[in-house]
Parts: sequence; structure tokens; C-alpha cells
Amino acid sequence: MEGGQAIISPSYVTLGHEMAHKFDINLGIKNYKWFGNPPDERGVDEYNAMYYENVLRQANGLPRRVNYEENNGVTQGNILDASGKLSPLPSALSIQPINLPVFHTLQTFFGF
Ligand SMILES: [Zn+2]
Repeated sequence: MEGGQAIISPSYVTLGHEMAHKFDINLGIKNYKWFGNPPDERGVDEYNAMYYENVLRQANGLPRRVNYEENNGVTQGNILDASGKLSPLPSALSIQPINLPVFHTLQTFFGF
């Protein structure tokens, strides 16, 4: 999280994050591995879920989420770089014909 403080997630942010996972499935996104190892292996759907979570956070004046934190405190899967810009799509996501940032852009600018 930006500022390095413990992440605070109102229930609507958590719900939005989880709904983005489901939305990935609806869009037909293949959930290839992004980072980590079992049992903490995470797929590229986590990038999309954190992206949408940050849309909700930014719209509500909350600090954006920077990465994925496991229960043991290990953080992986940065979605924002050190300057707060969106990190490049994971390669296993960028090769797919649709992803949530692209869908969001299409919807916002072209009414798709
Ligand atoms: Zn998630």
C-alpha cells in the first residue's frame, strides 16, 4: 500500500476485488501463474483484481494497493511501481486478447 501503512480494506473494496476475480472468468481470461509457489502461487487474475481494487480505492480517496501480501507477510506481485505508476502487465496476461485494464479502457472511452 502507498505510504507503507497497514492496508485498510472497507468491505466494498474487498467485494470489488473478489468480483473482479469472477469478472475475469466471465471475460474468459486464462488464469496462468503470475508469482509465488504452492500453496501461495497466484495467477494473473490477481493483477486484474488488484487493478480493479485500485479503481475503487482511488475513486473513494483511499490509498492504492501496491502489491499482494501473503498471510506470512511476504509481499509479491507489485501492481504499482515505486513512483505509483501501473506496473506492466504480467507476460501471461499481456498475451491474452482481453484483460481488465484493457476492458476498463474500452468501456470508459468507447462505451464497449
Ligand atoms: Zn485476489
